[in-house]
Amino acid sequence: MCYFDHQLWPCGWWKWGSFRGQCPKEYRTGETCGLKLIYNTYLEPQVCKHCEQIYKKQRRVAKMAEDVKRWRCEGNRRATVEKTEREMMELNLQINQLWTEHEIRRHAINY
Ligand SMILES: [Zn+2]
Repeated sequence: MCYFDHQLWPCGWWKWGSFRGQCPKEYRTGETCGLKLIYNTYLEPQVCKHCEQIYKKQRRVAKMAEDVKRWRCEGNRRATVEKTEREMMELNLQINQLWTEHEIRRHAINY
């Protein structure tokens, strides 16, 4: 067991930080035994990069949805509406993917 710093984001994302010390079981200099223990947890003030990306994409989707609504009322932008709706679908898929990765990391014990 070797000791590492640990960074934790309020959204549950986390990652290992710097190596802090070897345990008595590990005798090879500069090596770690593979089992990580938390030396110190540092709380990050903001949501993680992953969440930032998700929020950014969600804002884009929300804006597109408003545009589509407006264009539908105007009634003469069918091609643009279809194109935007396809982009929205693509973005929603990406959001789902990012969110799944985020949840996997949140619940993972070791990474
Ligand atoms: Zn996050």
